Amino acid sequence: MAAFRTVSAALVTLAALSAACAGAVPAVRQAKAPAAPSAASSPTGRGGPLAGKIVVIDPGHNGGNAAHREEIDRLVDVITGRKPCNTTGTRTRSGYPEHAFTWDVANRLKPLLEEMGAKVVLTRPDDKGVGPCVTERAAIGNEARADAVVSIHGDGAAESGHGFHVIMPGLIAGHNDAIIKPSRRLGLAVRKAYRVGTRMPYATYVGRDGLQTRTDLGGLNLSKRPAVFIECGNMRNSRDAARMTRPAFRERIATSLAAGLRQYLR
Ligand SMILES: [Zn+2]
Repeated sequence: MAAFRTVSAALVTLAALSAACAGAVPAVRQAKAPAAPSAASSPTGRGGPLAGKIVVIDPGHNGGNAAHREEIDRLVDVITGRKPCNTTGTRTRSGYPEHAFTWDVANRLKPLLEEMGAKVVLTRPDDKGVGPCVTERAAIGNEARADAVVSIHGDGAAESGHGFHVIMPGLIAGHNDAIIKPSRRLGLAVRKAYRVGTRMPYATYVGRDGLQTRTDLGGLNLSKRPAVFIECGNMRNSRDAARMTRPAFRERIATSLAAGLRQYLR
């Protein structure tokens, strides 16, 4: 991707951040399959409940975005309007950034899905680059012919609100009619698995019962494959942030998302 770029300044910052946020060794929960996870491989042709399925995981934002505002602020067409190519995302009050959170969760989720036989594609190769634009992120899912696309985020809402919510695509007639129903099924499966697996409450400040429908997000508007976003919690809320900064909780998030995808895809 032309948009990917290594940024040395961001690398220094990220090294400091990851040192600060790495914390203790995560208490890795066992996935359903016993095989050891391998983030580097994307096995195909294996057995398992998700054999033959393609999952695109979209870790929101990117580590180099903040240093390249002119590039990510560029407006792109998302059908219902024009939006920035990408954004910096939020961070906890202690400074744990959303892009690092989403990257970490994505890389915990990937091997869990691969163990179940799925082929997994990430929309960015590392946490040091810029972008890609939301248009490109959607295109990656479309070109992969993904059976499911999950975009991972942490919210940056007012600090009084807490909890998670799943965002599903709203109908834009003539554009995304075909994905509305399957995306809702995907959203319901992810919501249930996340609620049960993480014990996070539904968001207190947005949506209803942990669900929201939107027509302003490029990643959803431009997807031709079943797609949802999940705001895993509100990173500005101290209670949610305390959970989201813990590696063991991020592992639980990944396990829960894997369970929801399995439920939807089987
Ligand atoms: Zn985000």
